[in-house]
Amino acid sequence: MAKTKAETIVYPVHNGLYVNLTNRCSCACTFCIRQTADGVGQDGEGGENNLWLDHEPSFEEIMAAFDEQDMSRYEEVVFCGYGEPTCAFDMLKRVAAEVKRRYSLPVRVNTNGQGSLICGRDIAPEFEGIVDTVSISLNTPNADEYAAIVRSRFGDKAFPGMLDFAREVRKYVPNVVMTTVETTISHEDEAACQRICDELGVRYRIRAWVNS
Ligand code: SF4
Repeated sequence: MAKTKAETIVYPVHNGLYVNLTNRCSCACTFCIRQTADGVGQDGEGGENNLWLDHEPSFEEIMAAFDEQDMSRYEEVVFCGYGEPTCAFDMLKRVAAEVKRRYSLPVRVNTNGQGSLICGRDIAPEFEGIVDTVSISLNTPNADEYAAIVRSRFGDKAFPGMLDFAREVRKYVPNVVMTTVETTISHEDEAACQRICDELGVRYRIRAWVNS
């Protein structure tokens, strides 16, 4: 049976409630579930257990989806989903502020770090007070490999733009993390990622191959 609208907008993962704002993304990562036969295609067609939104939900639809949840069981609200949440940045800010006001829960944004490129301005200051953690997919320490993996519409500007965003957003958000996925790069490259994160003043995390 197809998922209901509310279950497509918010969905539990471990102790977090994840929020799916948009299908849009500046990237077409080679590993993205959007690219695979088991997931959903960029054309929006997919299996019955997908998170593809038939339209971007309104603020009222999103908060109605929250209303259906027992929020006492969650320790965190995470903006993630099948698209890049900063592609719907105005909505992200509005919902994050409301989540903080209503539930006093920590808010995390999982992002490709290209939000300032997407929005055409430095969006880092706008995270202040409404987002507690920003988790940025670093993927690799190598700019050319990054470009080949994420296939961003910003091309060669994507890697330095992502690093600039990390450098800026750490001024406004208590926890900034950059991640790679275990086994996808060499230990040498992981050490290089650690050096990049040290220079930026953010935490480096090697995460398991799951949506976390
Ligand atoms: S940034 Fe995330 S949503 Fe966008 S294509 Fe890559 S993995 Fe998929």
